[in-house]
Amino acid sequence: MIKIELDSIPDGPSHFDLVQDACELEIGEDTGIVSLESPVRLALDIMRSSGEIVIRGRVGVDATLDCGRCLKAYRAELEAPLNIMCILGELAPDGVEGCRDGVIEVPTNARYIDISDEVRSELVVRLPLKPLCDAACKGLCASCGADLNETSCTCKPDEHDSRWDVLKKIK
Ligand SMILES: [Zn+2]
Ligand SMILES: [Zn+2]
Repeated sequence: MIKIELDSIPDGPSHFDLVQDACELEIGEDTGIVSLESPVRLALDIMRSSGEIVIRGRVGVDATLDCGRCLKAYRAELEAPLNIMCILGELAPDGVEGCRDGVIEVPTNARYIDISDEVRSELVVRLPLKPLCDAACKGLCASCGADLNETSCTCKPDEHDSRWDVLKKIK
């Protein structure tokens, strides 16, 4: 759990640089992240007033991802902005207030704010749909499976693509 002690947040503006163990993020395999390789770094500007705490900042962590072209694992730095609103005090009686996204309700007797869900989801939505070890990654040969970053093969790329044959015949 990534949490901030309420007692440590002064009234008015303050800045927090936090380093948390990566396992606190509880990132699952379904995200496409193979593993986290560094502690989670948080740089937060916090504004506390009587009824609310506004947290703005950035989260960063090093991770291992699998390249979508050559399938090799590679290291990448994941980063995301954070924008979290915390309402202090009793929940609205009808519960409507508690349904808003990005708003954490902090009960009066709470000792800390748990920002794990917000940090995790901001990192995960920014993951590339097709992670690439390098924008220039050549990937694997579709015919023989050779890693074209490391070797070249003798396959001709268009050899098995019959669509071109059809076009040639039309000419
Ligand atoms: Zn690659
Ligand atoms: Zn090949």
